[in-house]
Amino acid sequence: MTGAARQGGRYDVAVVGGGHNGLVAAALAARAGRSVVLLEAGERLGGMATLGPRSPGSDGGFDSAGAAHLVDGLSPALVQGLELHRHGLEFAVATMDDVALLPGGELLVVSGRDAETTRRSIGRFSPRDAERFPAFEARLARLADALAPFLDRVPPTLKFQDWAERLEYLRLGWAMRRLGRKDMRDLLRIIGMNAADLTEEVFETDALKGLIGFDAVLGNRFGPRSPNTVYTLLQRKSGTIAGRRGAAALPKGGPAALIAALERAARAAGVEIRTGARVAQVLVDNGRVNGLALADGSEIDCRTVLSSAHPRTTLLDLVGVRQLDADLVRSLRHARGEGGTAKVWLRLGAVPDFGLSAGDLGRSRLVFAPDLGFVERGHDAAKYGELPDRLAMEITLPGLADAHQLGSGQKPILSATLANVPYRLRNRDDGALKQALIQRTTAALADLAPGLAETIEAVEALTPKQVEAATGAPGGHWHHLETGLDQTYLLRPAPGLAQYATPIQGLWLCGAGSHPGGGLTGRPGANAARAALAATRARR
Ligand SMILES: Cc1cc2nc3c(=O)[nH]c(=O)nc-3n(C[C@H](O)[C@H](O)[C@H](O)COP(=O)(O)OP(=O)(O)OC[C@H]3O[C@@H](n4cnc5c(N)ncnc54)[C@H](O)[C@@H]3O)c2cc1C
Repeated sequence: MTGAARQGGRYDVAVVGGGHNGLVAAALAARAGRSVVLLEAGERLGGMATLGPRSPGSDGGFDSAGAAHLVDGLSPALVQGLELHRHGLEFAVATMDDVALLPGGELLVVSGRDAETTRRSIGRFSPRDAERFPAFEARLARLADALAPFLDRVPPTLKFQDWAERLEYLRLGWAMRRLGRKDMRDLLRIIGMNAADLTEEVFETDALKGLIGFDAVLGNRFGPRSPNTVYTLLQRKSGTIAGRRGAAALPKGGPAALIAALERAARAAGVEIRTGARVAQVLVDNGRVNGLALADGSEIDCRTVLSSAHPRTTLLDLVGVRQLDADLVRSLRHARGEGGTAKVWLRLGAVPDFGLSAGDLGRSRLVFAPDLGFVERGHDAAKYGELPDRLAMEITLPGLADAHQLGSGQKPILSATLANVPYRLRNRDDGALKQALIQRTTAALADLAPGLAETIEAVEALTPKQVEAATGAPGGHWHHLETGLDQTYLLRPAPGLAQYATPIQGLWLCGAGSHPGGGLTGRPGANAARAALAATRARR
């Protein structure tokens, strides 16, 4: 390779992918004094989070909408460390209310702000459940608290190779010990359980159990009776946003504004950001990174690469199987990651009537999952490539709390995140899936909000295959790879890759496919950057 051929420039660190994790990793590396280039294949930053309803043929008017609409696990350490508030991050609603929608118009409210509202609302269904709910929440919060510190840490290996690793195991043991004997026993008993069994042990109200069961599975291809969905529920509850554990917040300006704040933080730290820059190959010489080849034929000269692309893309495509051990290739090929989450957006001519005021609607995360069986049967259908007649979904109307998120003509946009969506519709193509998603979502919403159907001005949908096509993540999965216990922590994304390092020296994984998984947390990006920086510091 001649110097002249490397017209892409020379950097200490190159980051593949401009999703939020790539931006976080790049910003942290630059703040540590490295020269950093970030290479994003697409024309926009934000990866899955900002994928919007702007497909050809759409009549538009959805301006600020993205696939993600809520933030629940963004690392507080990152918000502070990257000064994201100074770079423009604000929350229009810091703590959303959860509102379970029921056929017939009844509502069950779990308020993010007022325990008495929650008690009264649940009490209308079951006074016993209203009494039990605070203790249940406190119990989950204690267990989630014990797991939370490990979200921000690099998992140890199973080799117990040095004191730092032994210390990590001691930390893990201490976190369990600190729970006390009763909670420790509880955690050990329930962590592998399914969320349906857990909620049925405590509650009798179908709507409440449906709401909790839905939260346990959203983002993954699970039903509430799938094993270890208590773990996925606890993981969701272990995030802290705007100072509240387990809450969901609405970013002002939508997910695009969070990405813009990260972009500003990265640029301020000195990161050079290039869009339309697809990485075609990680160049490897004698088992270590020797640069990147871009699709336009140029090359980047660098010795450290942090890749936020899917682990399969990074290792099997960009590095190539010939550089890898056969067992690793097999584990990566078999890791589960077919997406089961889709979006439908509606631009409405009027505020819909879900039985809430416009102000309350803007502050609410509406969930349609009326009972556990509803969500479980949807999962059964999706498993066999069928679309359930009625889809479980999470709905927001962000423009009602934040005028920046109104559609064109100042119209409210309804953003629906759909669970139980098959990655492939049996015997049908993706266009048919998209049409079916639109038809079933609008039919369900028309039942739940009288008059809504007549106010629909525009509608768009996003399928898992479209997520895959737009981001290059095979499967188009929310977490890149499912976050069941067998694909988490020491085993994520595959045995031997859990420390973000790869068999190629200088190549690190930093996207949602790594610990602790997806969602707008920034944690895989931050943990990977820390690990890579520590390794290069040691070698310098
Ligand atoms: C339908 C849906 C709804 C969701 N809703 C929410 C929500 O409300 N809240 C929430 O917290 N999370 C949500 N998520 C999950 C969240 O969006 C993702 O977990 C998160 O965006 C993953 O971020 P990432 O940076 O790790 O990866 P990605 O967002 O996948 O970014 C990876 C980037 O790498 C780029 N790339 C890939 N290959 C190359 C290459 N060869 N060269 C250069 N660039 C490359 C891609 O173009 C992409 O921009 C949702 C996900 C989906 C699918």
